Amino acid sequence: MSHCIFCDIIEGRLPAVKIHEDEQVLAIMDIFPLRQGHVLVIPKQHHRQLHELAPGLRAHLVDTATRITRALYASTLKPAAVHYQVNDGPAANQTVPHVHLHVLPRYRGDTGRFLARLLRKPLDPMLGPTSSAELEATAAHIRDSLAHIT
Ligand SMILES: [Zn+2]
Repeated sequence: MSHCIFCDIIEGRLPAVKIHEDEQVLAIMDIFPLRQGHVLVIPKQHHRQLHELAPGLRAHLVDTATRITRALYASTLKPAAVHYQVNDGPAANQTVPHVHLHVLPRYRGDTGRFLARLLRKPLDPMLGPTSSAELEATAAHIRDSLAHIT
């Protein structure tokens, strides 16, 4: 029995709203998005930290994240920038012990709202996740855009 929520998603035991999947990586919508369009890119092999990935897999993880970024820019979400973030170990607020790269859309002038959302993050388990219908609607825009990215 797995104790890793991302392995459960990768192996189909738990649902997720998917953006992209291939043999090596899976990209899904974060159920507690910090901004609309917050995507997680996850290697299918279970490793805790980024340095544990084989170089080719690490490169593919980053390449997938940058393709998703291009899709975000070209999508109806039209972010002004993105954050790439890896919380690489428990002391860095890594809550799932399986490498994941956050792709987080940012907008001009959204720092206040972004910080307010970060401060509310500890309440996420109590307030519950974003509805799958809302995540699916956002994901549809990103997937449509990703289909046109070479
Ligand atoms: Zn795992």
